Amino acid sequence: MRRLFPAAALCAVLLLQCLSAAQESKAVPTAWQVRTDPITLVNGAPAVLYVTAPVALRALSGSWMGRKIFFAFDNATSSWYALFGVQLNAAPGKYPLTLEGRTDTGSPVSFQQDLEVASQPYASVELKVQHKFTAPNRRLLKRIKKEEILKHHVFAESSATQEWHGDFTAPVSEPITEAFGIRRVFNGELKTEHQGLDYHAARGTRVVAANSGTVLLARRLFFEGNCVVVDHGQGLMTLYMHLSKFKVRKGQRVRRGQLLGLSGATGRATGPHLHLAVRWEGIYLDPAKLLKLDLPPSQAVHSAAAGAKPEALKSGEAQDHAMSQD
Ligand SMILES: [Zn+2]
Repeated sequence: MRRLFPAAALCAVLLLQCLSAAQESKAVPTAWQVRTDPITLVNGAPAVLYVTAPVALRALSGSWMGRKIFFAFDNATSSWYALFGVQLNAAPGKYPLTLEGRTDTGSPVSFQQDLEVASQPYASVELKVQHKFTAPNRRLLKRIKKEEILKHHVFAESSATQEWHGDFTAPVSEPITEAFGIRRVFNGELKTEHQGLDYHAARGTRVVAANSGTVLLARRLFFEGNCVVVDHGQGLMTLYMHLSKFKVRKGQRVRRGQLLGLSGATGRATGPHLHLAVRWEGIYLDPAKLLKLDLPPSQAVHSAAAGAKPEALKSGEAQDHAMSQD
């Protein structure tokens, strides 16, 4: 007890100092404060980045691991927040986060801090599918190539503004049968990583949008089967695969919980299920972890930083051309 007491007293003093510092700096913190939720970042996981700046900002953007981070301002917590993530094959280590803002008077401010990535291990499984999916013939290879180009165009179409608001919700309320990131061996030969989350959904189960956005694609593809891609803006998309029926069309605006289609077993599927994928700036992230994140519910005030637009934004004409190919 005698040894503990001074430590407890010191904690109390520090706490008081922290409290008074927090009160003094309620409107404007004295230094940059960066935190992530969850605190530990791992390969394959999305996370939320919260930033408070030492001066009032009218815009904030960032970059990390070669990807742009788009911030919005949350009035409730007086902080800037952004969804971001770590790619599945990222090595553990420290990676510099660069923040660039503009003050109310237009002056540029910047800050840099390392964020640490810890290692998340993923299991591996063996699966059997029809031979054509692991050794496609020339005709199918041609189709696959064509669809790769189509997807490339679709993925470049993300809106410059944030279309999602608040938490992401599960597209079905069925049990999960296969987690994200599992290393899979198809027919003993083809090795891939499972870049989504599988739900055990009987054929005809209602599949709804995980958050608000715009339908960028609703059509049949070789591997994905009947596939819906919903763009949530700023490079964030959710994908719904192997559907038996579409209930939306390309270009349609959808809200969280809106019916997109019915589940099925189209494409490379071992049976009826829903494959949900989360794509962020060219990488796939664990949907289960996105669904668990607490996100600001309010209508956000968006960053108006110069250049804060997805770089790969393409014209509608280019997209229409690609869409009409098959
Ligand atoms: Zn899957």
